[in-house]
This record gives sequence, C-alpha cells and structure tokens, in this order.
Amino acid sequence: MSTIINLRDFCRLNRDWVLETTEALVGLESPTTDKAAVDRCGAALAARLQAIGGRVTRLPRPDRGDHLLAEFGCGTSQILMLGHFDTVWPVGQLDRMPLTRIDGRLHGPGVFDMKAGIAIAMLATRALLETGAPLHHRIVMLWTTDEEVGSESSRAAIEDEARRSTAVLVLEPSLPGGAVKTSRKGCGTYQLTVRGVAAHAGIEPQKGASAVQELAHQILRVNALQDLERGISVNVVQVSGGLRSNVIPDEARATVDVRVPTAAAAAEIEAAFRALRPVDARTSVDAAGGIDRPPLERTDLVLRLYKQAQDVARELGQALAEGGTGGGSDGNFTAALGVPTLDGLGAIGDGAHALHEHVDIETLTDRAALVAGLITRIQ
Ligand SMILES: [Zn+2]
Repeated sequence: MSTIINLRDFCRLNRDWVLETTEALVGLESPTTDKAAVDRCGAALAARLQAIGGRVTRLPRPDRGDHLLAEFGCGTSQILMLGHFDTVWPVGQLDRMPLTRIDGRLHGPGVFDMKAGIAIAMLATRALLETGAPLHHRIVMLWTTDEEVGSESSRAAIEDEARRSTAVLVLEPSLPGGAVKTSRKGCGTYQLTVRGVAAHAGIEPQKGASAVQELAHQILRVNALQDLERGISVNVVQVSGGLRSNVIPDEARATVDVRVPTAAAAAEIEAAFRALRPVDARTSVDAAGGIDRPPLERTDLVLRLYKQAQDVARELGQALAEGGTGGGSDGNFTAALGVPTLDGLGAIGDGAHALHEHVDIETLTDRAALVAGLITRIQ
C-alpha cells in the first residue's frame, strides 16, 4: 500500500483522537492579552506534545503567554510547522459560544483559528512517526501566543526557526472549501500626527493654523495611494483632533491601514508616507509606523510546495485549490526570508473571529494526512 494511503488510514483511525485534542485546546480559553490563561492552555498543549514524543521547550515571555517549541525525530535538516494558540476571544466566551458538535461541525472560540490546526499538525506527526513513513527531516513545531496582536514577542523566534528550515508549513485555517494560501498581502499601520497653531476661533482665527484642516488634506493624499487594481489598499481607519469647541485645533491624528501584495509595493507606499509634506506651511506632518508584516508572495518556491501538496491531495482522491488573502499571518515573516512557505494547511471551516466559528469534523483526518504526506515529499 502506498505511503500516502497508509498515512490516511492511520489518521482516519484516529478521528476521535484529533477531535478530542481539538476540544481540549478549545476548552482552555487563551486570549492573547491574558498571560495566565494562555499559559494554562500552553501547559496542557506541552503535556500533549510530550505524550506524542515531542521534546518541548518553553520560550518564556514576561507579558505574553510562553511560546512552545517541540521537536520530533532526528536529522540535521528540519521542517517547521507553525501556528499560534492565542485567540481573539475573551475568557468566558465559551459560555456564549459553547463547544458543540452539530451537523458535522465543531463549534467553539478559536477552533478554526487555529486550535484544530494544531491538532491536525499533531496527528500528522503521529502518523509519520507511528507508521514509519520515510522522513527526510526532523519536525519542529512552533506554537506562539501573540499572532493575533502582531507577533511582536514571537517574530524573532519564528524567523530563527524558519532560517533553519527546509520548508515552513503554516497550520492557519484554510480558505473556504479547503484551499491553501499561496499569497498573503503585507500589512502595516501608519499613524499620522499633524501639528498646527491654536487660536481663539472667534476672536483671532487668522492667527490659527488648523491641524484638523491640514489632516483633511493629508487624508485625501493618503487615500489617493490606494490602487485596488494592483492590490494596494490604503484606508484611514481612525481620526481624532481638536480639544474644544471654540479653539482652532493644534493637533490632529489619523491611523491608516495599509495592505500590499509585493515587497516593491511596500517600498513604494513607505516612500509615499515619508514624503508627506504639509499644504499649510505653518503646520507639520509626521508619519510613524510602517509595514510590519511583509507580503507572502506567490514565488516559485511557494508554488513548488503547493504542487507537492496538490500531488498528495490527488493521491488522497481530492483536489487542492489555492488562493490569496488580504490578511497576514506568521507565514508572511517566513516567506519574506525566502524560505518555502505554504499557508492555510489547517482546518476546513468558517467564521474566524466570528460568532459562527467552526470546523468541519470529517475533514480533520484527511487534512492531517495531507500535511503528513506533504512532509514525506519535501526533499
Ligand atoms: Zn490565526
């Protein structure tokens, strides 16, 4: 029997195991901002990783949950399985979104994004080790705790592990229907601060230079950078300014969300923000921030990994589509280093960050077989 079919059969036999693992992780709520809660989930995850043969290292963080690194097998080269166990949901959300199985779907906070993805990676690893499939690499898992707030405390560890890896498999949720993500936009946030000159709005308005008026000019300039045909989006998402009803405002601020498809577009947008100058010379304009997640571009390296995954899916009797998304993940960091990265290998379901968040139960095991099969194909 072929390796892929062996892996598939092993995974299918462990349907209840992957379901129980997913439920155990979802049952331990882990909002990014609650270190104690995240660490409780991390402790249970660490124990489960050890139980399947992982050598687990905790990467301590003072104000985020500790990240977990787990190694399986031996060898000098490694494949990195990447994801996060923090969620966007507060503790107590389980009461509002109870962990339930209905109509073949498992519902619960963080189940799709992305605790089922972690369970899939664990089942894939078990399948490889327990069926004695040909393994050319060590498997390293990095499960982080701050992806939902920008990965500030995990980025260095992610990049270190990625540099050591032959390929990175990201267990984030799939696109609708199970498609993997072969491109993700880069994301950034800019903060515009405009300073003007305050004056009494009734007595001597001519002495004032309105920061709010200047910001209005700048907003139009910034909006003009948007180029949806090229996949560049630039949106002013928050504004504030002025203190009192009778004072010409001397300060105004705006937050701008930026999404770019390529590193070249990122450089272009960055230059445009740095080049902002005031229309009214009595005011000043400052642009802070920048593109903090580089784009995951659909390079030949990404495509080769996708083709390998497609071959495995075909052996499993499935089609594997690809797609892109405007949302970023930690795969953006690894792809930007030039390490072959395939994202969206996690669960099939719907409703990330939404009340109807769920995964399709019957697809969990074949998804694990896909991931395991892909790992056997990476040379
Ligand atoms: Zn996620």
